Amino acid sequence: MERIYLDNAATTRVRPEAAEAALRAMTEIYGNASSVHAFGREAKKALEKARAQVAALIGAKKEEIYFTAGGSEADNWALKGAAHALCGKGRHIVTTAVEHHAVLHTCKALEKEGFEVTYLPVDEYGRVTAEQVEKALRPDTILVSVMAANNEVGTLEPIAEIGAVCRAHNVLFHTDAVQAVGHVALDVGAMPIDLLSLSGHKFYAPKGAGALYIRTGVRIQNLIEGGAQERGRRAGTENLPAIAAMGEAAACIAAEMEEENARLTRLRDKLISGLLSRIPETRLNGHPTQRLPGNVNVSIRYIEGEALLLSLDMAGIAASSGSACTSGSLDPSHVLLAMGLPHEIAHGSLRLTLGRETTEEEIDRVLEELPRIAQRLRAMSPLYDDSRR
Ligand SMILES: *Cc1c(COP(=O)(O)O)cnc(C)c1O
Repeated sequence: MERIYLDNAATTRVRPEAAEAALRAMTEIYGNASSVHAFGREAKKALEKARAQVAALIGAKKEEIYFTAGGSEADNWALKGAAHALCGKGRHIVTTAVEHHAVLHTCKALEKEGFEVTYLPVDEYGRVTAEQVEKALRPDTILVSVMAANNEVGTLEPIAEIGAVCRAHNVLFHTDAVQAVGHVALDVGAMPIDLLSLSGHKFYAPKGAGALYIRTGVRIQNLIEGGAQERGRRAGTENLPAIAAMGEAAACIAAEMEEENARLTRLRDKLISGLLSRIPETRLNGHPTQRLPGNVNVSIRYIEGEALLLSLDMAGIAASSGSACTSGSLDPSHVLLAMGLPHEIAHGSLRLTLGRETTEEEIDRVLEELPRIAQRLRAMSPLYDDSRR
């Protein structure tokens, strides 16, 4: 049986161009980029090439890209670094209820240090508005952090408008763009964004490399202290294999983005409409159009998400219920609850995330298997039975 991978929001398969770059960095360009000899100079050159490639993907200048060990570190650095640099000015931060835990748990940690955080509610689609952000601003607000695209339901947030509000009020704006980078067009040169987090393994590079974009002139405190790497702002010998791979993956996905987005959007919409029409009492979670090209998230009433996942896994289909970080716990997703879904429906949610290797044949197979599985599980469900009486 051919397995079908529909969990690209959790992580992606490394693309061949990226794997090749990583292998070369491990076996040939293996010097330390801080060394002065030829080996070191070659490593430095590869590092700077990757920096230019990542910068080009988001419209940044090369000097505005700082490599990190991934999206979580970039989020932690942006929030803690900005909070600690600006605490003399104020101690209030604005974010949303639907952020990734890398942002939410960092906010919780900052609250313990005495910062005050406003968690903006979202509408039924998981969206916040620029007006909401503007109303939440106070004289002591130092930072706003709103994600570009939600990792569970795929909803795109209006970050250009939110950034404009922040700019007008002279407040720093950070966006966790880990799900968006490489998948939707982003241009920090044209958008009022001060800090942006990205992560390579969400766009076909290896795990363990990401970056924080820091706009020229923005000062935040360091998170990792040590050597003078990354112009003294992020210490630690650079993870060149993963970084070089991320650079290649960035260059590849930038070249393909338009065509690939159109392809994935078509497959996504085929999967959504197929599931909604074939499985009664199923709803789409997240915005119908303002969503990531590869994201499908549905709630199938009367069925536990976990039961669905197990049955799909046995059929060779890899999916997710909410985010990978919360699966394993039985708590319903904080994102779906914030969107106002009742507990029993939030429990029955299923996320299918498409990627560059997803084919139409795979979508067809899911459209055959999933309704069958749902019907079988419902036949065994006491909840479903009760609702029929
Ligand atoms: C995956 C993800 C992260 C964390 O990135 P890592 O590189 O896995 O640490 C942060 N935010 C969002 C929205 C994500 O999807």
